[in-house]
Amino acid sequence: MRLVMKFGGTSVGSAQAMRETAVLIHNTFNAWGQLVVVASAMGSKPTKVTDLLLKGAHTAAAGDDVTYRAVADELRRIHLEAIDSLLGPEHERQQILEENRRFLSRFESLCRAVYVLGELTPRALDTISGMGEQMSVRILAAYLRQEGIKAEAIDATELIVTDDNFQSAAPQFPETTARVEARLRPLLTGGVIPIVTGFIAANRDGVTTTLGRGGSDYTAAILGQTLAADEVWIWTDVDGVMSADPRLVPNAKSIPSLSYREVSELAFYGARVLHPKTMRPCVENDIPLRIKNTFNPRHAGTVIVKDTKQNNGGIKAVTAIKNLGLITVEGKGMLGVPGIAARTFSAVADSGQSVLLISQASSEQSICFAAPDEATDLIIDSLNKAFARELERQDIDKIWSYEPVSIITVVGAGMRGTPGIAGRLFTAMGINAINAIAIAQGSSECSISVVVDDDQTSDAVRHIHELI
Ligand code: ADP
Ligand code: ASP
Ligand code: MG
Repeated sequence: MRLVMKFGGTSVGSAQAMRETAVLIHNTFNAWGQLVVVASAMGSKPTKVTDLLLKGAHTAAAGDDVTYRAVADELRRIHLEAIDSLLGPEHERQQILEENRRFLSRFESLCRAVYVLGELTPRALDTISGMGEQMSVRILAAYLRQEGIKAEAIDATELIVTDDNFQSAAPQFPETTARVEARLRPLLTGGVIPIVTGFIAANRDGVTTTLGRGGSDYTAAILGQTLAADEVWIWTDVDGVMSADPRLVPNAKSIPSLSYREVSELAFYGARVLHPKTMRPCVENDIPLRIKNTFNPRHAGTVIVKDTKQNNGGIKAVTAIKNLGLITVEGKGMLGVPGIAARTFSAVADSGQSVLLISQASSEQSICFAAPDEATDLIIDSLNKAFARELERQDIDKIWSYEPVSIITVVGAGMRGTPGIAGRLFTAMGINAINAIAIAQGSSECSISVVVDDDQTSDAVRHIHELI
């Protein structure tokens, strides 16, 4: 039996966490026979290594020659502490220390180059931000070897081939499958556990790309597909997918099972526990996906399967995305004119942005949609250009953005068969004085999304959670 397991930032965030992770790896390997491990960068809260790397790069680009050096010191401290605590001098301590030092001096030289040039390209950002994973897998693999477990650290730049879309690169499956076969299969049959970097990959020229923030989950799913794994497990710091973000709702409950579709809606609408692209390779290859807690491994966590029994209440979870803008295109001359929606969204696409929610009144006098608030100026510029003639003729009266707003989404496949869910949702909002600015319901009826003022986000999530 073949299993791919991914360990998130907190699961490798300190020497102690790595010890617990190593025990889980050992026990699971004994039970399954073939195991691939994917690891994130060290991420003990509140200091996430990836955030620090990005901070170094961005401050350097802004003309700051000091911060990235301080960041490098902080990164040295985090990694050296873990190495000192985990690896004995008679083992690989010296060698791994050296390797980590090399990464960090490369980080400093790259930031220095960014500072001198005053420019930070997406390509440079990917090289810099991916170093956290390259450091963590080396430490974890060396510790496993010290514990007598056969393990080898592997950079996913050797395995996952992507396009050139730096920062959110798309894997090219045929090439990736061939590389994974050639590189990982012999290790698996030889009883070696590959410890693979999450998050990073490489384009066809071998230049490092990344799969987007939180992308290590996706790495695990990509390897799951290419190796035809029996299951993929995501180890994190909570008991699986919860009925709400436990940081917002302390009494959120773990959900025993969810369908791919439900969890995709949750991930797309802001539940950080899983990267939204993780599900596709699993659903297409019928690979069950589990989410479990490294720090409470006996808890069953959540299993993601094709279909689940519908729960009677209908709503299974509520989630939120903050810091959005709601853009409206409005005008009486839009009534019945074909192509306005198509032109609106092609103008949005021209600005390089994507839309999170769309709502159109039946009178067709307005279309509104939500997008990240930092992108709204760009989108409005693009719309003004696309509709210059209509604006001049006053067929379109105005195009504007209302911000900041957030999208609150309730998810549950059982909502389809349960009348009155929307009624209960809006009643709960109404009695708690939360105003719905726009509403959208997926045609699958697996989710309903409501746009609210950003400062009402936590209240809305908490009150709606009481319906579950
Ligand atoms: P990792 O480093 O393990 O990938 P992340 O921080 O990316 O961890 O994701 C796990 C975190 O996601 C949890 O600690 C929790 O705060 C947050 N989270 C948000 N929404 C949910 C949810 N619905 N269920 C579980 N966790 C959630
Ligand atoms: N380390 C990367 C990030 O922080 C990827 C991940 O954790 O999944 O975004
Ligand atoms: Mg994550």
